[in-house]
Amino acid sequence: MNAIDTKQKILDAVDAGFDAQLATTRDFVAIPSTRGAEGPCQDMIGDLLRQRGYEVDDWHIDVDDLKDLRGFGPIEHDFSKARTVVGTYRPSTNAGRSLILQGHCDVVPTGPLEMWETPPFSPVIKDGKMYGRGACDMKSGTIGALYALDAIKAAGLKPTARIHFQSVIEEESTGVGALSTLQRGYRADACLIPEPTSGKMVRSQVGVIWFRLKVRGHPVHVFEAGSGANAITAAYHLIEALQKLEIEWNERAKSDRYFKALTHPINFNPGIIKGGDWASSVPAWCDVDCRIAILPGWSVADCQAEIRSCVSAAARDHRFLSNNPPEVEWSGFLSEGYELKDSAEAEAAFGKAFAAVYGGAVQDLVFTALTDTRFYGLNYNIPSLCFGASGAAMHGFNEYVDLDSLRKSTKATALFIAEWCGVEKV
Ligand SMILES: [Zn+2]
Repeated sequence: MNAIDTKQKILDAVDAGFDAQLATTRDFVAIPSTRGAEGPCQDMIGDLLRQRGYEVDDWHIDVDDLKDLRGFGPIEHDFSKARTVVGTYRPSTNAGRSLILQGHCDVVPTGPLEMWETPPFSPVIKDGKMYGRGACDMKSGTIGALYALDAIKAAGLKPTARIHFQSVIEEESTGVGALSTLQRGYRADACLIPEPTSGKMVRSQVGVIWFRLKVRGHPVHVFEAGSGANAITAAYHLIEALQKLEIEWNERAKSDRYFKALTHPINFNPGIIKGGDWASSVPAWCDVDCRIAILPGWSVADCQAEIRSCVSAAARDHRFLSNNPPEVEWSGFLSEGYELKDSAEAEAAFGKAFAAVYGGAVQDLVFTALTDTRFYGLNYNIPSLCFGASGAAMHGFNEYVDLDSLRKSTKATALFIAEWCGVEKV
C-alpha cells in the first residue's frame, strides 16, 4: 500500500465516521461540566476509551502533589472530586514517535440562560454548526481527536508508537489538570491540543494571572455616608489604576517579536465584582476578581510584584484606602506565556497533514488567550502544538463550532497521528 492510498483511506474513514463523531460530540457537550462538575465527562471519556481497548488510568488529583510544580495556580474551590483520565495505546511495533493528545472537558459558566437562543447544554445542530456551551471550546476537539484515532483503525491501520489520550479539567482557571498528567509521569515526543484555533497553529500565546482585590470599607448608615468609607467606589479607584497598568504593559508588548503585530494583546478584565449587603448601608466590603495577560518570557513573580505595587500606589493616594490598604489575593492562573519553538520535526509532520487536507502551509496564530500547551513545552520541552476547528462565542452566548471545519481539523489530526507515530497494517 503506498502513501497516497494510506492517506486517502484515513480521510475516507473520517468522513465515514463523522455522523457517529457528531453524535458522541453532542452527548459530550450535553454534560454541564463547569468547574468542579467535570466528573460525568471524565466517566464518559473513560468509557469511550475502554470500549476502544485503551489502557485507562483514572485518578484523583492531589493538590499537594502539584503545588510546587512550575505553572501551578492556587485552587480555592472544592477539589475532592477532581480527576484526570488518560487512555494509553501501546503499539505492537515500536517504530515511530510517541504522542500526547490532550483535551480539557471543563467549560465556563453559561451566564443568564435567557440570553441563549437554545439551552447551552442541549446541543443543537443547525446550518452546519453545533451550538452549546463547550461545543467549540473544546469538546468537539477532544472527541475529534478520539475519532481521528478511530479513523486510522477503520482504515485498517495501527500506529507504531505509544499514544496517550488525555482528558483534563481546570484548563479555564489554573491548568492543574494538564499539570497532573505530567506529575503522573506521562511524556511523549510531541503533544497536540485540538483547541479551536480556526485552522491555524498557535505560534505564541499569552500567560494569565488571576487575582482578587479585597477592599474593606467602613459601614455606616447612608444618612451619615460622609463619615464612612464605601468599599465599592474605592474598588473602582483600584480598577482604574490597573487599567493604566494594562496600557503600560501593552506598550511593553511592542517589543515582543510576535505580539508587536497586535494592537492590544494585553487584556485586563475585572470579571467578578461582589460587595455590600444593603442598599442603605455604605458597603463595608468589595471583592473584585481580575484577569490580566502577560507575554512569553515575562516572569510571573515580577508581574505579581508589579500588580501589588500598582494597587499599593493607588491606595496611597486615596483618602480611605491609604489607611486601610486593600489586599491582593492570587485566585487561579499563575501562568507564563508560551512560544512554540524547537519543534521543527513536529511542525514538519503536521505541515504535511495540513497540506493534504487544506492545501498550502498552515498559518500562525498569535493568541491573546492561553492553552495547556505551556506545561508540556515549558516544563518538559515537549513540542506542543495547538490546532483545531473554527467557531465562535466561546465564553459567550450561543457558542458554536463550525462542522465543516471540524471535519477538516479531524482529518488533519488523523493524518498527523499517522505521519508522526507511523502506521502499519493491522
Ligand atoms: Zn479551551
